[in-house]
Amino acid sequence: MLNILNKIKRKSDDPILIERAFNFAKNAHQGQKRLSGDDYILHPLKVALTLADKKLDSKTIAAALLHDVPDDTPISFNEIEKEFGKEVAFLVEGVSKLSRLRYPKKYNLPSILTSPVSPRAENLRKMFFAMAEDLRVILIKLADRLHNMETLKYVPEEKQKRLALETLEIFAPIADRLGMGEMKVKLADLTFPYLYPKEYDWLMENVKEKYEKREKYLRKIEPIVKKILKEEKIIPLDVHSRAKSYWSLYQKLLRNDMSFERIHDLVALRIIVKDLDSCYKTLGILHKQFRPLMGRIRDFIALPKPNGYQSIHTTCFCLEGKLIEFQIRTPDMHDQAEHGICAHWAYKEKIDPEVQRKQFIWIQQLKNWQKDIYKAQEFFEGLKIDFFKKRIFVFTPRGDVINLPEGACAIDFAYHIHSEVGMHCAGAKINGKLSQVSAPLKSGDIVEILIDKNKGPTRDWLKFVKTSLAHSRIRKELKNTLLESLKERISPGKIAKQILKKQGLLIRQRIKKAPRVILIGGEVGISFAIAKCCKPQPGDEIKAFIATAKSASVHKAHCKNLERNESLHPQKIIQASWKEF
Ligand code: MN
Repeated sequence: MLNILNKIKRKSDDPILIERAFNFAKNAHQGQKRLSGDDYILHPLKVALTLADKKLDSKTIAAALLHDVPDDTPISFNEIEKEFGKEVAFLVEGVSKLSRLRYPKKYNLPSILTSPVSPRAENLRKMFFAMAEDLRVILIKLADRLHNMETLKYVPEEKQKRLALETLEIFAPIADRLGMGEMKVKLADLTFPYLYPKEYDWLMENVKEKYEKREKYLRKIEPIVKKILKEEKIIPLDVHSRAKSYWSLYQKLLRNDMSFERIHDLVALRIIVKDLDSCYKTLGILHKQFRPLMGRIRDFIALPKPNGYQSIHTTCFCLEGKLIEFQIRTPDMHDQAEHGICAHWAYKEKIDPEVQRKQFIWIQQLKNWQKDIYKAQEFFEGLKIDFFKKRIFVFTPRGDVINLPEGACAIDFAYHIHSEVGMHCAGAKINGKLSQVSAPLKSGDIVEILIDKNKGPTRDWLKFVKTSLAHSRIRKELKNTLLESLKERISPGKIAKQILKKQGLLIRQRIKKAPRVILIGGEVGISFAIAKCCKPQPGDEIKAFIATAKSASVHKAHCKNLERNESLHPQKIIQASWKEF
């Protein structure tokens, strides 16, 4: 154990800080054991060593030593901050936040061919970045995961598969995108036997001999290559063979009918030369000597991969007509290929944002993805990751990731799932607990919507929701329900008026004031109608005919209709007169 500590201290520019962090963590974890039976402190030590090997700064390494203290011991962040300052505490807190992220337990093992590219995995990776806030937090987390994968055999079986899948879907691709080739290969290879044991066993049975044969062959080629380069005054700094990783080899075999003969880079020959010019010269010399295979010359120097990878690859017919892949690069390019973002670290506290911007096209892509919230001048300030700051990532119970604006609540989530779900959203369970539908969600929350078919949106909802989708749907539904309730309570004529009024088409009815007050049987207030047959005018002699119990019709005294009624129902005829004003 002290061995490892001394190694770390030797690689660090602040051995005193490292020593202090180690002692602090050791005391905190006193008496705790890993599932392997080792003292717990061995784990943070291994994590710190991985990062020290990558030449990370002392604060990051101190944070790595302390990374499990707040979650696994009674010691708080405040105490860590008091002891080691803000920056170390910030990094430790970041790692702990990511560790507390609960990946949904339910999962389906994807087909071995499609596993790393599912949209769900892509969203999980984005969420990971959104929550990390600082790239160093991600680096600690990667190193942490590497050691956990190395000791996965001690973990209960049902947990093994889940951790391995998480590693394959999230951690290995993140390492790849940060250009950390070595880390990516290690992580992916470690997951292979746990996720696809049959395929792994098959590969182990079949590959060993093939690797050995290739390497033996390459040992024959090596001196010949060195010799022809020397003749043209190129002295390589290093020539070595590189075996393809198990995981990527298997993927390639799947795409090539499982035929080893078609995998030309099973073992490649790597040639490291001093500068860019020498790279292209070397390519020319090799091609002069060995015929290249058509379509297999790839210049990743002129056209780097999105993660910054640079190299020239070419596959040539060598001795006995066998095909060999050569990889030509400078020491800087090699460092970049193995360590990616960490290659620029080397004892620097800060990374040049300009360099990073060009190097990591993936981060550019993330930026574009978040164009609406991105502010150019804030991009990659130091190591802060702020391009996801205004977004949150939450889970459905099935483990899908939903991306919402900051401050969004369960109602936004429900409408994002489906408008029917939103419309009848009656409650929410957040991380298994019943919660207000209006409460703002946090990244990493698992959200379940409770539905009641008899319930619908209320005006209040408009105050809580953050997405325009939810906003417009709620408004629309509120309008519909308003019309529905009007139809139930009010006559169709009134609804028509309501609608006309909304559209500005309703003209207020003019009320005619005419001096048509009539005394019927000497009384005012009996309702009446002016008979249409004779249309009596004020001044005419009139009589009233009681047509119904409630109203009378007023006729001229000599109207023919009235006279007929009078002969039939004399009791229904009443005297009437115009009231004088
Ligand atoms: Mn850990």
